[in-house]
Amino acid sequence: MPPFDRWEPLRAALAEKAAQNLSREIIAVDSPPAPRVRVRGREMAMLASNNYLDLANDERVKAAAIAATQKYGAGSGGARLTTGALVLHDELEAALARFKHAEAALLFNTGYQANAGIISALCSRDWTIFSDELNHASIIDGCRLSRAKIVVYRHNDMNDLRAKVRAERGVGGAGGGLLVSDGVFSMDGDLVNLPEWLAIAREFDLFSLIDEAHATGVIGASGRGVGEYFAALPENRGRDLRPDIIVGTCSKALGSSGGFAAGRRLLIDFLRHQARSFIFSTMLPPGAVAAANEALRIIVAEPERLAKLRRNLQIFYDHLSVNFGDGAPPPPSIATLNAGGVSAIVPLIVGDEAAAMTLAQELFTAGYFVSAIRYPTVARGQARLRFALSAGHQAADLTPPFGTIKN
Ligand code: PMP
Repeated sequence: MPPFDRWEPLRAALAEKAAQNLSREIIAVDSPPAPRVRVRGREMAMLASNNYLDLANDERVKAAAIAATQKYGAGSGGARLTTGALVLHDELEAALARFKHAEAALLFNTGYQANAGIISALCSRDWTIFSDELNHASIIDGCRLSRAKIVVYRHNDMNDLRAKVRAERGVGGAGGGLLVSDGVFSMDGDLVNLPEWLAIAREFDLFSLIDEAHATGVIGASGRGVGEYFAALPENRGRDLRPDIIVGTCSKALGSSGGFAAGRRLLIDFLRHQARSFIFSTMLPPGAVAAANEALRIIVAEPERLAKLRRNLQIFYDHLSVNFGDGAPPPPSIATLNAGGVSAIVPLIVGDEAAAMTLAQELFTAGYFVSAIRYPTVARGQARLRFALSAGHQAADLTPPFGTIKN
């Protein structure tokens, strides 16, 4: 019998991925994170980045990062509770809390670590967590880390959520409860039904956590998030639409890196003592913190950036409707368009994994960098092109050719 090769399961796993058109490749970009990038020597429109407000390469944001690096060094030197605390961290937390109209905020190193740390700190074995089926992986991992009972409800389906909460909690279930949802769903681009969702949380005395990774800087009149968006609708006048816990990231519209929690001071004090991804990880470097703080200042001072993003979304949707809209119905392979959505994420559902890869490749050849999103990021058979728009795109960047898709 040949000796057991311990590497064989790894080879087999990769071969299986390849057979299912699920192989992954890292495409290195050789230019700054901007609306147009250089890839393999070629300039192209970047339609796959979460750099929604075009701040990642902004001169003022970069200057802030450089100045902070000069003044405070390249790394923070330790976890925040040991040696890694700088006044810069305090300043960014204060700015984030102000921006989110919260009492306080706490920085994490990434949005992923924020979700994983917050949910596992708050919930424990005798808790029940109600989680949207399309929630981000970092939420799912936080739920699993907590060892709580996880009840998954159908995507944004408030009837299903209510029924499941009632079944679990209606009889005075023991332990705490958490309701958790993306604010903007990262692969579909749609918004949580916040008013009804919050009403259910409050009716059943559940903690409420909204992940505003893709909402911060993008959703609501001034980019403060889904609460601001829904509060402006006439039917919600006078309603308090603040969840208990807001999670965000500085890695998308803010153009830097770093996650955060915002909410009551009690919550933030608790997380500082209990969130392991906060306690046991070296804090963000000075440059990233100063960059995020400057980006936040610019977002507040220059609302025209968000207005430009919205104009670009309109151009893109117009282009889609010329290709797939009235009189030119989408082929059966394209199930839905998130047309009319307010987020900067526009998914074009293709279905088949290989077809999505081919389309992304064709667009790449035409000079448009687009992500083909496949399992496990989305369900099998739900492969899609995920377009992410930026305030910095020019009209020509927003009209990729869809010739093949139409055939
Ligand atoms: N939540 C959501 C909804 C996300 O899409 C992401 C990033 N893809 C994260 C959290 C994680 O944020 P970060 O990239 O800062 O770790």
